[in-house]
Amino acid sequence: MARLLPEVRPHYGKLELFIGGRRVESETDTWLPVYNPAKDEVIAEVPFAIREEIEEAVASAREAYEKWSEVPITERIQYLFALKNKLEEYKEELARTIVQNHGKTIAEARGDMRRAIENVEAAIAAGYTLAKGEHMDQVAEGIDETLVREPLGVFLVITPFNFPTMIPMWFIPYALITGNTVVLKPSEITPVPVNWMYKVFEEAGLPPGVVNVVHGAREAVEQLISHKDIVGVAFVGSTPVGRLVYEMASRHGKRALVQAGAKNFLVVMPDANIEGTVPALIGSFFGNAGQRCLAGANLVPVGEAYDRVVKPFLEAASKLKLGYGLDETVDMGPVVSRRARERIISYIDKGVEEGAKLLLDGRKASVPEYPRGYFVGPTVFDEVHPDMTIAREEIFGPVASIIRAETLDDAIEMINENPYGNAASIFTSSGRVAREFRRRVNVGNIGINIGVAAPMAFFPFAGRKDSFFGVLHGQIDSIDFFTDKKVVITRWW
Ligand code: NAD
Repeated sequence: MARLLPEVRPHYGKLELFIGGRRVESETDTWLPVYNPAKDEVIAEVPFAIREEIEEAVASAREAYEKWSEVPITERIQYLFALKNKLEEYKEELARTIVQNHGKTIAEARGDMRRAIENVEAAIAAGYTLAKGEHMDQVAEGIDETLVREPLGVFLVITPFNFPTMIPMWFIPYALITGNTVVLKPSEITPVPVNWMYKVFEEAGLPPGVVNVVHGAREAVEQLISHKDIVGVAFVGSTPVGRLVYEMASRHGKRALVQAGAKNFLVVMPDANIEGTVPALIGSFFGNAGQRCLAGANLVPVGEAYDRVVKPFLEAASKLKLGYGLDETVDMGPVVSRRARERIISYIDKGVEEGAKLLLDGRKASVPEYPRGYFVGPTVFDEVHPDMTIAREEIFGPVASIIRAETLDDAIEMINENPYGNAASIFTSSGRVAREFRRRVNVGNIGINIGVAAPMAFFPFAGRKDSFFGVLHGQIDSIDFFTDKKVVITRWW
């Protein structure tokens, strides 16, 4: 039985920019349709901001910075409490706009909102602790030394389509608590939830210009990164674009924090607890329809684990219910766009062409109530070799590739040879094996009997190799990214 929650609105009209605390109707001629992927219906139009509007957004952030950086921390924290409270108040509406625009299930969208709010909470905590600097008396005779953390100015934040409200919150609260201001450029594919957040920014009473939002794509990003008043950029998205952004930022002498694409391996040892492992694998490969940078992509059963895990994994995958994510009984929504669906299907075709064995084929999946939806069913390949395209490249869809390994060493070698380094998990009952895996695997986020190795807000969102460019990571680590250090050495006669 369907349990369909109401859409917040059937159509969101022409989306606005958010500049200097005001909603601004863009004067651009370039408007992109925004879709509900379950229905293939246009639910909004997003403008590509013109140069003058982008200039205005930076100017308003720069002007706001002069005052905001002088607001005492005890007051800045009150603004963040207000932001948290407004996010709590509107989290259900926001979750429903996420489902409507992105396609994920309502349970997943509610989870995104929880994580978004936790980042505001972590930034509040950090405001009174990590951001406060250090002091030591008597570093030499009669000399004291103080480390002061200072804000830098206006930061650009660029975010991907897959977590429309959570990923902006990996950065914005930390930038604000440390006294910076922000221009956000969200994904043009899922802009509706961010536009809905204007209400949150307004009602939280954030001073005008502290957070600004412009829509656009490459041109907007180029203009923003090269702007003299942008001091740095935090980016989350694919590796090719991330590399471009990182290069652009360094060319202009800006600091950059770039979290990029992924290809995550989940290793199952023969001694794994199968009852716990299978649901964790299902959540990892097919949650968010595989559109998560921490999603499982390659499933590596070691030795006899193959005989224990593949059958129940396949059974559970084939039972997942597809549909519109606002139906609370649905397990998996559509993928985000028609283009994404075509790309995922072409990867499945490629897997077949390269000789992998298709155990579960999601290409023809359909949902009778939503015949035009961009659905791809859970897909499972067996007999995949690490050199195959489907084993190496990021598919970003609900596709699991089973690659058998004889030993733990073989599995670790496979992971370390892959160019990405976002996450890897192991399922085992042995502490010794888990410890060895943790120490030898060269990725940023490790799961031990965990399918989606997602760090909480008060830990850094790690990542290595082609999954990350820079030094400091998102979430709590970004306190360092958003501050510069000044050291004061003092002597009084
Ligand atoms: P994307 O790289 O296409 O877009 C990301 C952002 O960059 C968007 O705001 C987009 O408008 C902008 N952009 C696109 N092309 C650009 C260009 N040529 N120049 C400048 N800006 C450009 O990524 P996506 O498809 O929105 O998101 C999916 C990707 O994000 C996946 O690769 C996924 O692994 C990755 N991701 C990584 C993390 C992480 O923390 N490592 C988290 C979530 C998603």
